[in-house]
Amino acid sequence: MQPQMCAVQLHALHQVALAQVPVPAINDDELLVQTRAATICTSDLHDIAANPFGATLPLTLGHEGAGRVVAVGSKVKGFREGDRIVTHPVHPCGNCRACRTGAAHLCMNLRHFGLNMPGTFAEYYVVRADRARLLPDGIPYAVAALFEPICVCLQAVAQARVPPGEPLLILGDGPFGLLMARLAHDQGMEPVVVAGHQDFRLARAGAGVITVNSAGMADPTGALLEAIGGEEYGGVILATDAKRAIATGLACLRRKRRLVIFASLLGETPIDLMTVQAKELEIVGACNDEDRLEAALAYLVKESASLDELVTHRLPLDAYAEALELAAHGQEQAIKVALVME
Ligand SMILES: [Zn+2]
Ligand SMILES: [Zn+2]
Repeated sequence: MQPQMCAVQLHALHQVALAQVPVPAINDDELLVQTRAATICTSDLHDIAANPFGATLPLTLGHEGAGRVVAVGSKVKGFREGDRIVTHPVHPCGNCRACRTGAAHLCMNLRHFGLNMPGTFAEYYVVRADRARLLPDGIPYAVAALFEPICVCLQAVAQARVPPGEPLLILGDGPFGLLMARLAHDQGMEPVVVAGHQDFRLARAGAGVITVNSAGMADPTGALLEAIGGEEYGGVILATDAKRAIATGLACLRRKRRLVIFASLLGETPIDLMTVQAKELEIVGACNDEDRLEAALAYLVKESASLDELVTHRLPLDAYAEALELAAHGQEQAIKVALVME
């Protein structure tokens, strides 16, 4: 009989359960990973509540993860059993028009953990070897699971196109907003401001980052401009699904600059295009990342100690319900919640 494992699966909207499923088999270009940590993402919560990408159910959830290699495909080079690795959930096909024109992260036949590949909330998962990187010793797996969030936050920061020494505004104090603030500060954007509603979260925006708690403000624009001496910002990133933040972002931008839409805004969104026209602004998306694996790993290695404060909870796989609840509703005590299997 094929060996079995525990996996947290979505069976129907809002119906998540621990299931016994076969340990997946690998192809010759893949690695079998024994999961050591998997962090919960806002998009996992979206999948549970709405399945916006129409994934086929049941489905093993999760796309952020790190672990140990326990089997290596016959054509794989550079990995051995026992290696500690981080993994990227996005698996481009390499052949479609997007892949051939430098946009593999937007591949038209994209395979992705926890959507159309089994996810990381399981004792084992499979990754194509080119989507894995060796993890140096000494970095806790729960922090290493932030690898892909760092990749996508690097993309969002890059899309803002703010030169060093110029101010960046991040709207939203969720895990992504806090990570972006740290990355932007690390890249020399100055000042970096994060706006949100939770002091608990804003306190973890990282050293040197300015924070503004805009809870209760009907229009925070004035306070956000004042936070940097009354100037406008060189770029704004939307890292909240609060749609009215778009108007704030547009109002805070300098002429000719970019508003980056990182948050997933389900449904229709009203936008004041008059401001876009009058200031010649650009509105751009940020989705996945343009293979920022090396830069993300370097940042992870450099900052693993400080990133640890973003992983506020570590729970075993069978406490998945509590973990998901904390990630969904624990704004005053949780940032990143990790399922750990160490
Ligand atoms: Zn994620
Ligand atoms: Zn492709």
